Amino acid sequence: MPFFDQAASFQKHWEGIRKHLDDVLDNGKFSHGAKVAELEVRLAAWTGAGHVVAVNSGTDALILLLRAAGLEPGDEVIVPAYSFIATASAVVLAGGVPVFADIEEHGTGLDPGAADAAVTARTSMIMPVHLFDRMADLRGLGAVARRRGLAIVEDSAEAIGMRMDGVHAGLHGAGGVLSFFPAKTLGGIGDGGAVLTDEESVAETARMLRHHGRGGRTIDNFPGISNATVVPGRNSKMDDVQAAVLQAKLTTLDADIARRAELAGRYDARLRGVPGVRGVPGSLPPRPGSDRVPYVHLLQVEDRDALAAHLAGRGIGTEIYYPVPLHLQPCFAHLGHRPGDFPRAEAACAGAIAVPLYPDLSDEQVDRVCDEIERFYAGRPR
Ligand SMILES: *Cc1c(COP(=O)(O)O)cnc(C)c1O
Repeated sequence: MPFFDQAASFQKHWEGIRKHLDDVLDNGKFSHGAKVAELEVRLAAWTGAGHVVAVNSGTDALILLLRAAGLEPGDEVIVPAYSFIATASAVVLAGGVPVFADIEEHGTGLDPGAADAAVTARTSMIMPVHLFDRMADLRGLGAVARRRGLAIVEDSAEAIGMRMDGVHAGLHGAGGVLSFFPAKTLGGIGDGGAVLTDEESVAETARMLRHHGRGGRTIDNFPGISNATVVPGRNSKMDDVQAAVLQAKLTTLDADIARRAELAGRYDARLRGVPGVRGVPGSLPPRPGSDRVPYVHLLQVEDRDALAAHLAGRGIGTEIYYPVPLHLQPCFAHLGHRPGDFPRAEAACAGAIAVPLYPDLSDEQVDRVCDEIERFYAGRPR
C-alpha cells in the first residue's frame, strides 16, 4: 500500500479527462489558454473567491501573492517554524525575510501570541499556514494583524475545502493560494497552483507577474510579445493539460473530501488511546467556526522512525510531515537559530508520521494500517 497512489487517483476520471483534453486539442492552445480561463471561473465558484489566478505551482502562487500583496524588499513576514519548506522559501524568493514563530501548544498552527511577540518595525505581513486537516487560528491571528497594522496572507496550499466562519481558506486577508501537486486534495497530473483573492489589485498584479509582466486575463496570445512591460515578471503560467485534468477532478471534489473525512474518522476511532500513539488528529481541540477537512492524516507517535521501518517492512508507505523545522533548515542557518528556539515545532517534527489517506483507499486498507501500528507497539517493551 503506497503512501499515495497517483495512478489510482486518476482511474475514475479518465473519461472526464479525455473529454476536456479533446477540447484542449481542438482549441490548439496549450498554455494559458481557454481551459485555464475556464478552470479559474470554476474554482472561483467552488471557493467563493472574487478572483482566481491559475499558475504553475503552489510555490509560485505564494511568491506572486506576497509580491502582489505589497511585500517590499527586506520586509519581514512572520511564518510558523513548522511547515513545508516552500512557506519560508517563497518569502525569500519574493524579496522578504522570513521570521519564525512557534506553533500552538495543541495543534500545528501558528500561535497568535508567538506571532505577536515576533513583530518588529520591519514586519509587514503574517502568513498563517493551514496544515493537514485544520485551519490556523485566524480569529486570533487576525486580531494580532489588525492591532499591529499588518496584512494577513495565507499559505492555504493544503486547504482546498477548508472554511472558517463560512469563508474559504485564503480569503481571510489579502489572499491565499492553492496547490495542485498530484498528492494534494485536488491533485493534477503534474504541478499547478493558483492565487485566490477578493482584492482586484492583488489579482491584477499576480496576473502581470505570472506572465512576463504583461498581465491581462488568461489569454491565448504568445507570451513575451509585449512592448509595454511595466514590471519584470516571471513565467508562472498554467498549462491547459493541467486545467483539463483539474476540471475533470473538480467534479468529484466534494465526494472525495467526504470520503477522506470518513477514512480519517476510521483511523481516529481505531488509533485513539493505542499505547505508543500520543495523538490523533481528531483529539486536537476543535477550531471554532471551522470543520476538519483531512488532507494528510498525521499521527504523533513514540519511536517514530522504528514504526515507519516496521510499516515499510509490511509494505505500508508513510511520510514525515515535516522532518526538520524551518528555523533549523540549512538554508536559513544565517538567521542564527538553534535547537530549542521553537520547542513545539521541534517536538511536532520529531514525533510526526503520516499514514496513507486518499479517497480510493478501502476501509480494509485503513484497518490493516491500524492493525500493524497496534502490533508494533504491543510488541515493544514499555
Ligand atoms: C504543497 C505546499 C506548498 C507548495 O505547493 P507546490 O504546488 O508543491 O509548489 C506550499 N505550502 C504548503 C504548506 C504545501 O503543503
